[in-house]
Parts: sequence; structure tokens; C-alpha cells
Amino acid sequence: MDIGFIGLGNMGAPMAANLAAAGHTVTGYDMAPVTPKGVRIAASAAEAAAARDVVITMLPNGAILRAVAAEVIPVMQHGAVLLDCSTVDVGSARAVAEQARAAGLTALDAPVSGGIGGAVAGTLTFMVGGDPLGLATAQPLFDIMGQKSVHCGPAGNGQAAKICNNMILGATMIATCEAFALADKLGLDRQSMFDVVSTSSGYSWSLNAYCPAPGIGPQSPADNGYAPGFAAELMLKDLGLAADAAKHVDADTPMGARALDIYRQFVEQGGGKGRDFSAMLPYLKTRGHS
Ligand code: NAD
Repeated sequence: MDIGFIGLGNMGAPMAANLAAAGHTVTGYDMAPVTPKGVRIAASAAEAAAARDVVITMLPNGAILRAVAAEVIPVMQHGAVLLDCSTVDVGSARAVAEQARAAGLTALDAPVSGGIGGAVAGTLTFMVGGDPLGLATAQPLFDIMGQKSVHCGPAGNGQAAKICNNMILGATMIATCEAFALADKLGLDRQSMFDVVSTSSGYSWSLNAYCPAPGIGPQSPADNGYAPGFAAELMLKDLGLAADAAKHVDADTPMGARALDIYRQFVEQGGGKGRDFSAMLPYLKTRGHS
């Protein structure tokens, strides 16, 4: 396929390189000077998008997605697929999909989980919203960039699935970290705590697969000085999107709201910026009862 790829950052660059390595023709654009392997770099987003079968975007937020979409939708060829893999607010995803549909395009929102490691290895999970017709075109690309894709319904539902997942993740990571910090102060060693909880009703992905305590459980960012991984500020972003969405549809999300407050404090005042989101454990450990 002839693919345009806009947003070649930490995630986009390896995703674009994987598509090129699989034999697709990839023309990329980013505001920053980047050269992913096998990707021809265009001078503008419009040049990267014109006359492509599929245009993929992997951008920081909804406002930037809307701006890029306004630039590329008018130059895309009729019937092409606009595939946004960024994590953005549901409203922006639905607005862009509507503009694309009105221009004779098919739009899919397909945010990912799996982080930079998953983008490099081609093992991302895609949560997909939008017209099932677009899926037939996008599926072979999902299969190269990832190992799983789930169609979640109409436009915006991929983003809805992503923020619901990450709201659970943020809250369970905090719960796991506060339990380790409490166990430390109660004199319960971390290995015993892991051995019990990982096989008891407190188990979760945060504990079992991404243990925030160094030297315990499988390899995780905790074993690498809490270098991300999944950065705390990205968790803060996703919890903010979940909180905005909850407000918009009048949903009560008390744990999500509390997780947002705690990650905000951690990132803005607790030294969390630039660290993995599991560095919540050493942060909570330094704090006393409140
Ligand atoms: P990043 O900041 O590394 O990359 C974003 C890229 O977009 C940058 O290279 C930037 O120069 C480019 N960009 C910004 N404005 C642009 C414009 N107008 N035109 C062209 N390029 C522009 O971010 P990332 O880590 O690659 O994340 C991308 C998206 O994926 C975000 O929405 C993020 O929330 C989501 N995500 C990231 C991770 C992760 O672990 N990094 C995991 C899951 C989802």
C-alpha cells in the first residue's frame, strides 16, 4: 500500500519503519527532523497525505490532530482511509471522523497500548472505532504494527476503550504501590507480598506483569531505575482525558478522579516527570499518613 504517516515521534517512527520493512511504501512527515528507516520524508503533512491509500496519524493531542486533519483531509484521495492512532479526546476523534466521512473518506480511531517497546517490536494492541469498511484496509497494517486489534464500534469508541482501560490501570497502579509502601512499613518483605498477592484476589496487570517493586516479579521499568516504559505524564494525560469524558457524559468516576489528582501531584510536584508511572511506589514510600 501507499501510506502517509504523520507524527514520527517515539511511537510513530518505529511504527512507520515496521510498515516500510514489511514492504509498504511509506511517506512520512513530522515537524521535527526525523528519519525512520525506510521512510521517505515529505516537506509537509499535505504532501505526505496526497494520493495515499491510507494516512496514519500519531500525534500528541486532539487539538493537533484536528489541525493536521484540516490540512490533510482536503488533499486525500476519495475512498482512502484516515487512521488515527494517537490518544485523543473522544470529541476530537468523532469530529475528525465526521469531516473525513463528509469528504468521502473512511476514518478509524485506533489508539494503542503497548508503549514504545510494543511499537518497536510490532506487538501493539489497537482499539478501533469507526466504519467496519475501513477495517478491511487497515487490518493488514494492524497485523504488522501490532499483535491484536479489537473493533469497539462506531467512531470514537476506540478512544473510549483506551481511556477506560487506562483509568483502571492508573487506579490499580496506585493501589499496588500504596500496598507495597504499607507492607514496607508493616515489616512485610516485598517478595512475600508479591508471592501472596500475585496469586490472590489482589492480583492485577500492574502487580503481576509490571511490578513496581525492583527485583520482584518479571522485568519491568522498576528494574531499570524507573526509566519509562510508560511515562507518568502520559498516564496523567490519559486520566485527564477520562475525567473530561466523564464530565461530558455525566458519569461518576471517583477512583479515576482521585488517580488524576495523585498523578498530577506526582508529575508536577513529586519528581514524576520523565519517570515511569510505576515510580509512584518510591514517591508514596517517602510520604507519611495523610
Ligand atoms: P511524541 O511526542 O514522541 O511524538 C509526537 C510527534 O508528533 C513528535 O515527533 C512531534 O514533532 C510530532 N508533531 C507534533 N505536532 C505535529 C504537526 N502539527 N505535524 C506533524 N508532526 C507533529 O509522542 P509519542 O510518545 O510518539 O506518542 C504519540 C501518541 O501516542 C500520543 O497521543 C500518546 O498519548 C500515544 N501513546 C503513547 C505511548 C507511549 O508509550 N509513548 C503509548 C500509548 C499511546
